[in-house]
Amino acid sequence: MKAEIIAVGTELLLGQIVNTNAQYISKQLAEIGIDVYFQTVVGDNRERIQEALRMAQQRADVIVLTGGLGPTEDDLTRDAVAEFTGNTLAFDRAALQQLETYFHNRGMAMTENNRRQALFIEGADVLPNDAGLAIGSALQAGNTLYILLPGPPKELKPMFERYAKPWLLKHLGQEIRSLHSVMLKFAGIGESILADRLADLIDGQHDPTIAPYAQEGEVTIRVSTKASDPAEAERKMRPVLDEIKKRAGEHLYAETDIPLEQAIVEHFAQNGWTAAAAESCTGGLISEMITSVPGSSRVFAGGIVSYTNEIKHQWLGIPMSELEGQDAHGAVSRETAKLMAEQIRERMNCRFGVSITGVAGPSPSEGKPVGLVYIGISEQGKQTQVFEERFNGDRVLIRWRAAKRALYLLWK
Ligand code: ATP
Ligand code: MG
Repeated sequence: MKAEIIAVGTELLLGQIVNTNAQYISKQLAEIGIDVYFQTVVGDNRERIQEALRMAQQRADVIVLTGGLGPTEDDLTRDAVAEFTGNTLAFDRAALQQLETYFHNRGMAMTENNRRQALFIEGADVLPNDAGLAIGSALQAGNTLYILLPGPPKELKPMFERYAKPWLLKHLGQEIRSLHSVMLKFAGIGESILADRLADLIDGQHDPTIAPYAQEGEVTIRVSTKASDPAEAERKMRPVLDEIKKRAGEHLYAETDIPLEQAIVEHFAQNGWTAAAAESCTGGLISEMITSVPGSSRVFAGGIVSYTNEIKHQWLGIPMSELEGQDAHGAVSRETAKLMAEQIRERMNCRFGVSITGVAGPSPSEGKPVGLVYIGISEQGKQTQVFEERFNGDRVLIRWRAAKRALYLLWK
């Protein structure tokens, strides 16, 4: 079952709006097991819409069009599809009634153009618009299914979910087998290294499919298969999931699509653990990430941005002789990271203290290179650990990567 999405709108071609409708429809279709092979964008032009339809009709079983159902002269989708499929347009009486009421209630006169929004393709099923005025159409012509949806996302989404999707499921019947996916989330390992470890699995994949992709500081492996129910999907995916875990399980932090900080909050909450953070070059990013997770107050006491040496000294009690002067290791050092982690843990009375001090750039500091970062992890009753890391990238990336790495070390 192959689908093509045709987004109609000159604004899309001019780059004035982003084609989020195509993204949304693609995702929706994937979930019900329909493969999208092409996404097309075409301007508000009758000939070119038909040209796009000719292409799509040759290579797709389902064509979903979005946009161009409004009242104005440049809203041509209906007309183009009707002409292409050899149908005429007709008014939907219920929709016309709705339009009349709408304008009447607002004391406005309804123009002839506005009536166009109640037009549908004769022989098609009407897709009601619960969030706007223009109705959609769903029709079969030859072996192809056509679905016409309005452009505004807040109208398109409910119309798709409530009316177009059930219509599709009904027309495609038994052939539908939904796509089931498991998201494996990894941290502390780069995408290329992880992909290397799984190279033969990824190269030889067919069903289930294995797709790695990287976000900053996290890597996701999506394992997917088409199946008629979750049990069948589980049966098909289990051996692959087990094999991936065998090869990289020590970096796996979740089997659902959640960020690392959420996994930490859940992990700490389960164990009744607490943490506090002392940050220098990350300026509070760790605290930001953890507190973005609802319920983090159970596990996160607080943090301090000890940016200058004075604040590291005054608020965390790091000796000035450690930070500045002839014999000092400096603010960016193992020793300072260790003290910061221990001090914040003690002062905030937590089980864990995490610290970051480093050079985010753009220029070196204390004669130390950009990207050098020390991360301290202090745990009650245990020896404090300090990790020396070197991150690539600009200031934004170095800070982000350092914070994510610290979270990973805390999670481990
Ligand atoms: P209207 O009745 O508002 O004219 P329409 O069905 O004619 O709706 P368009 O005129 O093509 O749709 O687009 C209306 C608005 O919907 C656009 O200005 C834009 O904000 C949004 N829109 C249209 N197409 C897309 C798309 N592919 N992705 C995201 N938003 C879109
Ligand atoms: Mg319009």
